[in-house]
Amino acid sequence: TARNRRDRNSWGEFSEGSFSWPSEDEPVEKARPVQILVVNDDHTFELDEEALNKILLSDEVRDREVVALSVAGAFRKGKSFLMDFMLRYMYGQELNTWLGHYDEPLTGFSWRGGSERETTGIQIWSEVFLVDIPSGEKVAVLLMDTQGTFDSQSTIRDSATVFALSTMISSMQVYNLSQNIQEDDLQHLQLFTEYGRLAMEETFQKPFQSLIFLVRDWSFPYEFNYGLDGGTKFLEKRLKISENQHEELQNVRKHIYSCFTNISCFLMPHPGLKVATNPNFDGRLKEVDEDFIIQLKVLVPWLLCAENLEVKEINGNKITGRGLVEYFKAYIKIYQGEELPHPKSMLQATAEANNLAAVAAAKDLYSKQMEGVCGGDRPFLAPNDLQNKHLGLREQAIKLFCGVKKMGGEEFSRRYLQQLESEIDELYINYIKHNDSKNIFHAARTPATLFVVIFI
Ligand code: GDP
Ligand code: MG
Repeated sequence: TARNRRDRNSWGEFSEGSFSWPSEDEPVEKARPVQILVVNDDHTFELDEEALNKILLSDEVRDREVVALSVAGAFRKGKSFLMDFMLRYMYGQELNTWLGHYDEPLTGFSWRGGSERETTGIQIWSEVFLVDIPSGEKVAVLLMDTQGTFDSQSTIRDSATVFALSTMISSMQVYNLSQNIQEDDLQHLQLFTEYGRLAMEETFQKPFQSLIFLVRDWSFPYEFNYGLDGGTKFLEKRLKISENQHEELQNVRKHIYSCFTNISCFLMPHPGLKVATNPNFDGRLKEVDEDFIIQLKVLVPWLLCAENLEVKEINGNKITGRGLVEYFKAYIKIYQGEELPHPKSMLQATAEANNLAAVAAAKDLYSKQMEGVCGGDRPFLAPNDLQNKHLGLREQAIKLFCGVKKMGGEEFSRRYLQQLESEIDELYINYIKHNDSKNIFHAARTPATLFVVIFI
């Protein structure tokens, strides 16, 4: 039908999420990316169970062990571009021609970023590839494209959830980074994996399988060569733990090692200016730098050749298509619920700690001084005098709080100032009561109190 033809012609330009499933009697179904997890603007998550079932519970996949390769990272860093080459590899039959013609536009996961709305979430390729692995089994290979934004407080949690979920679901997680492995890339990874581990049951095994750092636009090949060799040496240097390192740096590294059974790194060259800057570039290899193509021919088969495919395991059990659907649903429920703490960025956590410390110091000043004024060994004070003392000390405490240098800004700090004020007012009420109890006339006027005092 005309519809099928149009689908075929627009292969790879699918980007609006407007695809509707063909009815049962339509035989041809175009392979395409399917958004299975969406993070909405109000930060709620939606799992498209129907789409997920359709892919993972199909006859061919349901009872087969699954290999799930995910590529995760921020937007506009060439993930989909790379995944389209993975698709070429998976579709290509012959080992030396899979890369395709130099004049052929690239299609598959939508990667021509400009028009695409950047949604945080997970997409999977609707077609699962069946591959014979050396053990003699036929496994189902699933390709996932995962993206986050990482750019604001509100999206840190979204990104953490998406990243955690994709790490829990995949057997091979490619962490796509631009130019280098920065300390904050490692911190993000720590936050995300910790967030994943929180949601999983505790085991003795490491919770996740393979992690591959993929550094794009690597520009120091004279220091560390492109590819796996340079990547391995570079990673060794970046993840090295040493005694004289700051504790925080050590912790991040130990954490990452404790999470994955296998960690590797691949350094990719820059693909050339046409790829990076020309808005009309449509993925033709003839416009891609030769260095990039050379490494692409190494990277993609290294990730996806039958010998290197890793079956998904959870708690040491190999997972089938059916099992993966169940885990996916169970995991997402945990993140939809409220029992998990909300992950915080380093900045937010630090800012909170700063403010809380300042609140504590200010409160301390107030109560120490008040003890001197109306503590246990002090005589009764006229309520008016007590109030004047209180007001003066309250002001001092607030001054101290405001004078401490704090991270997070004025707005953020105001909440803690209010907290301080209300805590001081609470303390004051107790001091008033305590002071009143020392007033012999006051006590005498309330026989019940006197009674109790006498009989205790
Ligand atoms: P995604 O959002 O991470 O999936 O990124 P895309 O694959 O959509 O690519 C975003 C833009 O980066 C496109 O214009 C690509 O042509 C370009 N691009 C793809 N790969 C690379 C790369 O390795 N380096 C650079 N600098 N740009 C790339
Ligand atoms: Mg993309």
